[in-house]
Amino acid sequence: MPKRPDLREFVLVKRTMEQVNMDSATNGISSSPPPQAKKPKEDAAKVDLEYFNSYDDINIHKLMLQDKPRTDAYEKAILDNSDVFKGKIVMDVGAGTGILSLFCKKAGAKKVYAVEASPFASLLKEIVELNDEEGVIEVIHGKAEEIDLPQQVDIIVSEWMGFYLLHESMLDSLIKAREKHLQDDGVMFPSHARIYCAAVQMDDYMEDNVSYWQNVYGFNMLPVATRVLENKLSGGQPEVQNLKDSQLISVPSVFTEYDLRWVQLDEVKSLSDKKFVSITRDGKFHGVAIWFDCDFKPMFYDEEVSEKFKAVKLCTGPSAPPTHWKQTVIVVPRDDADVEKDEVVGWEITMQQSENNPRHYQLCLSLLDPELDEHPVPCECKMARCALFAALMQKEDDDLEEVPNIEDVSS
Ligand code: SAH
Repeated sequence: MPKRPDLREFVLVKRTMEQVNMDSATNGISSSPPPQAKKPKEDAAKVDLEYFNSYDDINIHKLMLQDKPRTDAYEKAILDNSDVFKGKIVMDVGAGTGILSLFCKKAGAKKVYAVEASPFASLLKEIVELNDEEGVIEVIHGKAEEIDLPQQVDIIVSEWMGFYLLHESMLDSLIKAREKHLQDDGVMFPSHARIYCAAVQMDDYMEDNVSYWQNVYGFNMLPVATRVLENKLSGGQPEVQNLKDSQLISVPSVFTEYDLRWVQLDEVKSLSDKKFVSITRDGKFHGVAIWFDCDFKPMFYDEEVSEKFKAVKLCTGPSAPPTHWKQTVIVVPRDDADVEKDEVVGWEITMQQSENNPRHYQLCLSLLDPELDEHPVPCECKMARCALFAALMQKEDDDLEEVPNIEDVSS
């Protein structure tokens, strides 16, 4: 029986992606960016309607609530730092069932605006009525970036992250809501986000999609495998899977990082990163995995508050307990996938918000030639020039640390 994808995955990747087909994430392998699909730009209101209607689904909210690493991280970040919330005005961007608003109220917030744009807002109202006799939480049905509030807020909490962090583009709304509603010295929960990537080996996937076709009742049907991979790549669906840590064949490296208090819209529209990495064991280079971490570690102007703050991290990588985000893999079909320990491989990944449907990104992976293509500086690979440069930089850092400070000199 075919495996049924999880619901958030089903609704947010499959249904929406199939409808816009080529205009969704393009899991392409090319030396140049993929051509933009020649489809008319979708009506923004229609895209939003479809998106918000997909959140009027109880199972999606249950899936998120039952994602323990996710919900526990928010609970811990808010309740272990209740001093930060006491007496404060909070906005919950995309409140859903209201779980984060309820945590904030429990932590002692004076007022929580629970803003939800989907029709689920009516259930949210009922949940809040049941759990908030004191009337701390005010439910607002609308888009956080469009509604008006009677006052600026001290804290914005939000669970806005999609697959590979950016899918759904809710970060755009968060940035606009922050600019409109957050006090100058306000803080964001979470405060930072980081996208990682690493080379991966995908034996089960290759077995299922390629090797199987090599011998079907004794007949070689490999052309089907080629078609399967071609369809997958041009059809625009990267693989969303829970990988094991042992499937990574390079040390994870940072693709990009955001300080959510300051990140601007243009920094999330189009991203690109060139990487050369050293392979950590003999194996097969089947693709590049992408995932993200979030930190709850805001910067406070008050040093005492900063010192007392208990930082929390939400990790969605292969070495962390699985979450509903899993990892996104761009598969790299090649005849010879064999790689050796210490061999250097390179790639460039671009993520571009789709012009036709800004809720989606086009992901594009181009393989690079470590001998011919220029390496970034600094570079994480162990090729002689990059390793030498890294050693020099390290020495410079060490030397700087050894410079005595002014007090030492005077004593
Ligand atoms: N905070 C809840 C739900 C997170 S899912 C939880 O942690 O369980 C994200 C929610 O944000 C969805 O319910 C979606 O409908 C809502 N949302 C997305 N963009 C929004 C926007 N611009 N304004 C208000 N709500 C939004």
